[in-house]
Amino acid sequence: MPRSVFIHSQEIEKYRYPEDSPFKTERAGRTRQVLYTMGLLYGPDIREVAPVPAARTVLKKFHSARYLHALKSAQQGKWDVEALAMGIGTEDCPIFKGVYDYAVLAAGGTLVGAELILRGEADVAFNPSGGYHHAFPERAAGFCYVNDNALACLILAEAGRRVLYLDVDVHNGDGVAHAFYERSDVMTISLHENPKTLFPGTGFEDEIGAGAGRGYCVNLPLPVGTFDQAYLHAFEEIVPPLIGAFNPDVIVFELGADTLAGDPLAHLYLTNNAYVEIIQHLQRFGKPILMTGGGGYHVENTVRAWALAWTVLSGQQADLGLEAMMGGVMLQSTDWQGGLRDREVPVTNEQRQTVLPALQATLDTLKAKVFPLHGL
Ligand SMILES: [Zn+2]
Repeated sequence: MPRSVFIHSQEIEKYRYPEDSPFKTERAGRTRQVLYTMGLLYGPDIREVAPVPAARTVLKKFHSARYLHALKSAQQGKWDVEALAMGIGTEDCPIFKGVYDYAVLAAGGTLVGAELILRGEADVAFNPSGGYHHAFPERAAGFCYVNDNALACLILAEAGRRVLYLDVDVHNGDGVAHAFYERSDVMTISLHENPKTLFPGTGFEDEIGAGAGRGYCVNLPLPVGTFDQAYLHAFEEIVPPLIGAFNPDVIVFELGADTLAGDPLAHLYLTNNAYVEIIQHLQRFGKPILMTGGGGYHVENTVRAWALAWTVLSGQQADLGLEAMMGGVMLQSTDWQGGLRDREVPVTNEQRQTVLPALQATLDTLKAKVFPLHGL
């Protein structure tokens, strides 16, 4: 069994984005509650660890002092056009009570996970309050203020680790890709809805890194309506071969749940069964995995997906019982008592006919442009 760390605390539950924001911080606490109730946070190899605020010296490895100052000032009620120009106080990134403290604590949770992995004290760690992949050094965007994913990759890379960053949030992991666009020690792979139809408008398949980083930034845009089978085909064609070629020491995994069918902000059509398969693929590499939350705007679906992901990540799938082992076909139920897996969702012929050819074209492009750079 992997030594598994779940990162959460009562302290972090006190922060909330404004009521009208689609971003719900309480997803983390609810995930923890579901896992606790189901007995999935106990065991000799499982422990809960509280996040601690990220140190300023660490934050400055990615964010500018000017930006951090503006964010902290905004929390204290001092806000100006300069801060607004950095994305602070916009509709997506509002100033709420404790915004700086929350962003720094949430990021600190991911960094706690990175440290435990670096010290060899954990094999897997999950911070459901992490995954703020849209933050840039001097810009808040897409509900993100402090980029915990980029910071964790930086810390791990500084310690000499080869880092594979995998981002399956429905939005392109632009802030992290930006951080490592010209580096070859951190490979970033992002699967997301086609940027033509979704924020942030980046992450096309021809964005492959530059200079020393050429071939180490991988973008796999997915057509509207992409469903489990199509997604997993694309994943299997592209991701395991690249991970194998790159041979990372550690995997940082952003598990946004806004790819799921029914998400109000996006247009993909997955079920959480796809996430189980993705995690099982990652586990085959036998490397430590630092997993974070991310997007996910249908709260119930997101909580269930993250609870299921933790269960698989921490090696507890057997504890889910027969129905979970059956693979989403038989005996499934979407209510809480019925297990964590989603029911399969029906896929139309029209969906197949629009999704599959577009996806195949993307896979062909990636194989032509990126694979040869890794001897594939
Ligand atoms: Zn997202």
